This record gives sequence, C-alpha cells and structure tokens, in this order.
Amino acid sequence: MAQPPHVLLFPLPLQGPVNSMLKLAELLCLADLHVTFLVTDYIHARLQRHSSFRSRFDHYPNFQINTVSDGLPEDHPRGDRFIELFDSLRRETQPLFKEMLISSESESRRRVSCIVADGILGFTFDVGNELGIPVFYVRTISACCLWVFFCLPKLIQAGEIPFNDDMDELIKSVPGMERFLRRRDLPSFCRSGNVTDPNIRLYRTECDELPRAHGLILNTFEELEGPILSEIRSLCPNIYTIGPLHTHLKAKLAARGSLQPTFSNSLWEEDRTCVAWLDAQPSKSVIYVSFGSLVNVTNEQYMEFWHGLVSSGQRFLWVIRPDSILNKDSGSRIPDDLSKGTKERGYIVDWAPQEEVLAHPSVGGFLTHSGWNSTLESVFEGVPMICWPYFVDQQVNSRFVGNVWDLGLDMKDTCDRNVVEKMVRDLMEVRKGEFLQRADEMAKSAKRCLVEGGSSYISFERLIKDIGNP
Ligand code: UDP
Repeated sequence: MAQPPHVLLFPLPLQGPVNSMLKLAELLCLADLHVTFLVTDYIHARLQRHSSFRSRFDHYPNFQINTVSDGLPEDHPRGDRFIELFDSLRRETQPLFKEMLISSESESRRRVSCIVADGILGFTFDVGNELGIPVFYVRTISACCLWVFFCLPKLIQAGEIPFNDDMDELIKSVPGMERFLRRRDLPSFCRSGNVTDPNIRLYRTECDELPRAHGLILNTFEELEGPILSEIRSLCPNIYTIGPLHTHLKAKLAARGSLQPTFSNSLWEEDRTCVAWLDAQPSKSVIYVSFGSLVNVTNEQYMEFWHGLVSSGQRFLWVIRPDSILNKDSGSRIPDDLSKGTKERGYIVDWAPQEEVLAHPSVGGFLTHSGWNSTLESVFEGVPMICWPYFVDQQVNSRFVGNVWDLGLDMKDTCDRNVVEKMVRDLMEVRKGEFLQRADEMAKSAKRCLVEGGSSYISFERLIKDIGNP
C-alpha cells in the first residue's frame, strides 16, 4: 500500500504564524498525513513552557516536532526587530535546514515528500528545489495586505511611495482598492520615506518569489476576500483558501467527536481567571482589549487608553502583556477615578485565552491592533472591532474592517482619551445594533465556508489531494 505523504511544516517563528501553522499541522494529521513541525529552539522552549501543544499532539502518532536554531542570542527581542530575525534565518538557519533534510533522507525515518513553509522564508524553496522536494507556501497575513505587497513595484514606479504629507490622499496603483485605500492605510513601512527601506526590499523579494511554489495557502475565506483573491490569482493562480484556520480545525475535530473544550498554542501563560470574570458579566456588555503579541505602547498611550476606557462607562477586559509598556511610569499615583472605574467595571490580565474570550457571550466588542489572527477570530465570533493598527499589515486590515466589511471603526493614527471614549461608546452603545448585525452576517458566512461543500472545506480537500500528488 502507498505510504501517506510526509509534510514538513516550517512557520515564521512568531506567535501569530506559529499559532495558525500548528492548526494547519493538526488538520494535516487529521487527514492522515505524516507531519514534521519545524520550529526554532526559542519558540519550542516557550511552547513547552506555556502551551498545551505537547499533550494535544501526543494523540497523533503521525506527528513529530523538530527544532532548529534561529542563530540569534537568547536575549534578542526577535519580533521587535524583524529584519534582524529574517537576516539571521536566511544566513544561519538555511544551511541547517538543508542539512536536516539531507540527513533525514539517510535515516530510517520517512523521506520528507513536501515542504509547507511560510512564504517569507523564501530560502525553503531554494533548498526544496535543490533536493527535489515540492514546496507550498503559506501566508498567515490577509490577502488584502498581500496584494498591496505585490503592488509595491507599481507603487514605486508610479511615484506613490515614498510620500511625505497628506496622509488622506487616495492610492491609485493597487487595483481593486482605488476607491478607499489612502496613504495612511498602506503597510506601515511605506511611511519610511525611503524606497530602499529593508522592509520594502524584503516584501518585494517575497512577492517575486511566491509564484515559484506549487501553490499558496492562505488563512482567509472567499466570502471575505474574494475580489482581492482574484487579483492575486492573476499572479499566483494556485491558491488554497482554507481559513479561518482556527475554526476549520475545530469543525474537523467536532465532526470526529474529539473537540476538547480548551487548548492553547500560546507563548505566554494564559490567565483563565478572566473567563470566570466574564461569566459574571451581562450579555455583550464587555469590550475586550488586546494588542497581540508584538505591539508595545508608550506610557502616554497606555494612559490615554486607560482614561478612555474608564470614561466610556463600559465594562472592559484588557490584556497588558508583561513589558509591553515602554517607559512605564510605575512611581506616579494612579488617579482615583481610574482605580475606581477599573475595580468596578474592568479586569486586567497578562495574557488571555483569546479565542475563548471572543467566543464568550459577554463580549460585545474588541479593541484590537488588527493582527490578522485576531481579526479572523473576531470575524468568526461576530464581534465588532475598534482598530488601532500598529505596523506592517495591520494598517491595511483595519481599513478593510472599517470601510469595506463595515465590521467596526478604524482609529488609526490617533491615541487620544476622548477619541477612545467616543469610539468605545459608539461600538458598544450608540451603533451597537448596526455593527452586531453586520458582524453576525459575516460570522455566518465564515461558518458556511467550513461545512461540507463550503469554499474552505473544498479548498482543503484539494490541498490534501495535491500534497499527495504534487
Ligand atoms: N492571543 C492570545 N491571548 C492574548 C493575546 C493574543 O491567545 O492575550 C493570540 C490571538 O488569539 C492570536 C495571536 O495571539 O491568535 C496574535 O496574532 P495576531 O496575528 O492577531 O497578532 P500578532 O501578535 O502577530 O501581532
């Protein structure tokens, strides 16, 4: 009997991509493929410490984890200094990756028959190609941002970047977005005023390289990003839209009767006491506030958010990651109204079980940095958003949330207590019904794409077939 394919998955070593690639790994295990998940030592140590991934994957004899060095010292901040991480992966990790694949061929273990790697790790294709192993790329950002990356050469050629002023000027060189994409909605690095910015170079190279792969796997769904996906297909015809990955996995587990109530891929310890706090709040009364795994705020921004949240009079659950407040002023006295308002209506944790929080009936809104995983998790649960994008793809995602999908409000480029207060009131009170209705419609279409015959369901079946026969 023919052996099942052996897939090696290699995520970008950051919380968001690792989270979604672990979901993909489990989906592939459920489809009876052999899976090796390759992570950096740094990520592996944190997953071991804080997540439940080990006990979960123990159920799959067809799964194994391998580790590789990212070449950086232990105390390097990694996600805070992306470019250094990418450079080190290319320089230090690439040869190790190749060695690992070669030595696995000579060992008794099964030969890797297919590589599924983050598209930004372009060197995986070079190695795969040299060794005759087909490569599929995965991108865990939105299709809308990926399309802007593809258009970077056009934007430069048309003189639309670099730019200096008038951030509200419309952009004309991104087909499909001419009517609403402004300068301020471009990926954050477009603001650098310099077309030789290393970020621009990195994403341009990525887009040149993406079409080389057998196919491109995206964590999105057709009903959400269909028109933009059509644009990308003009350059990368073979796309698999299999998102939202987190619920795609839950749907497949539920179908087998093996869905566990909680599991975590977190790199921080989840504080589950917030779930008990949510249990005691009225339906859809809480705004959940979290800026993901990479955002740092200044002490001034932190105080603006805090004042705005308390003055809004709404209940709030706020994730403040340890060390995420720069120049934190721990010495000064907290104003009484803030302490009182927080005690009465607020709850603060270091890290939350976010998927569970967003699915909780007490949560009625999400103040988010518009990371793609957070956005999809919110879309799926029908939770309207206030977007405060920080960098890279988040500027584009928030424009789509606010002005294309009508799922909330875009607060980009301001951090003022009065604006926070007003937007929180608008989302949770004044325009609550309107946003909830729209979010509910989108959540329904997200659910439909995962059932048998739905777009993501079909796309995943095709992926499994193509991995077996690339
Ligand atoms: N997350 C979490 N608990 C938190 C904050 C975030 O589990 O308290 C998870 C969240 O569910 C998401 C991921 O961390 O899956 C963050 O990814 P995203 O793409 O939204 O943002 P990034 O951290 O990459 O900026």
